Amino acid sequence: MNLLEKLDAAAALRKAQLPEGLGAFGIPIEETLSATEARIGGRTVLMLGTNNYLGLSFADECRQAAHLAIDQEGTGTTGSRMANGNYLGHRALESEFAAFYNCRSCIVFTTGFQANLGTISGLVGQGDVVLIDGDAHASIYDGCVLSGADIIRFRHNDAADLEKRLRRLGGRCQNTLIIVEGIYSMLGDQAPLADIVQLKNTYGATLLIDEAHSLGVLGETGQGLVEMTGLLKEVDFITGTFSKSLCGIGGYCVSNHAQLEQLRYVSHSYIFTASPSPATIASTRAALNLLKNGCFLRERLWKNAHRLYSSLGKSGYKLGPQPGPIVAVILNSPQQALMLWNALMEQGIYVNLVLPPAAPAGSSLIRCSISAAHTPEQIDRVCSVFADLYPLTLQ
Ligand code: PMP
Repeated sequence: MNLLEKLDAAAALRKAQLPEGLGAFGIPIEETLSATEARIGGRTVLMLGTNNYLGLSFADECRQAAHLAIDQEGTGTTGSRMANGNYLGHRALESEFAAFYNCRSCIVFTTGFQANLGTISGLVGQGDVVLIDGDAHASIYDGCVLSGADIIRFRHNDAADLEKRLRRLGGRCQNTLIIVEGIYSMLGDQAPLADIVQLKNTYGATLLIDEAHSLGVLGETGQGLVEMTGLLKEVDFITGTFSKSLCGIGGYCVSNHAQLEQLRYVSHSYIFTASPSPATIASTRAALNLLKNGCFLRERLWKNAHRLYSSLGKSGYKLGPQPGPIVAVILNSPQQALMLWNALMEQGIYVNLVLPPAAPAGSSLIRCSISAAHTPEQIDRVCSVFADLYPLTLQ
């Protein structure tokens, strides 16, 4: 089989598995009407599958900052931070992120994916070890592969399994990077950070947490799981993204270790790519300011999350392990998940369809994500549609 025939075979296999299914992926959004509604297929749809956790995508402060930046600095930087793409705005955002976490240093990357690629591949290399959660995001896994370090997966959120693997590593623990996530992107559960910190300290390893889905969502000021658990100072590196609660695009790594700065000279995903555009930086700075002071947004988000989680549970659905802004409905098969996805779309509700291998442990999911911008009435409508559709999961 040549290269193109291999792709044809993969496409045929996918089609055989899900003859009707591929339309669910990458469905075009024809018009974005607000933080919670869009036009898809010619009709207004309630968006329950974005990562717009704080509902800031149309915030006046962010839009105005972005407009001004375009007018003053143009649409793009046309180059890398190491060359012509290093603007005062990038430096300012780094200082603001460092101050937000009360940490020494911050590096801004062009995407969250690149933040993980660049940070991980800059920190570890051949001869080192990465110990990653079984449900780690693809950007974490790819960063590990890129690094050349030995990759060991521990069972999802299982501190005992992590300890077993650390014990086996013996003297190699000092060259081991443990990587976890604040909130896992598919099941919506949180890492058992206190246990993981204790193990990291006992075995002398280094710890990185990706707060992509927990930034703005957990903790008094929205720092993430590190703040909610009071363990910020125990974690060595924090990565995250601007593309979810901050409604921009880009990523960051913060640390109290002075050595973080060295990553600017070794991380290819930082050096060999164009820096974020002025509009992106400006809107992200404005959004970070809203996020820090957004207790009321977090309150609304969590109220919505609890409402949806408890209602779906009462309707009989099997859900991810804990309530949160990501509510995963676990289905028996890809076909069943697709059927539910289509039925929800018919009722004007957009959710994420997640099938193997993207879903954890071979499962098929309907992933709902909640926003502070959802009204209680919108959430109630979603609950009632789900309740009506429950019989579909018994087929
Ligand atoms: N980390 C995690 C846990 C994620 O879920 C994602 C995106 N889904 C990323 C990193 C990458 O972020 P971005 O989309 O901003 O590149």
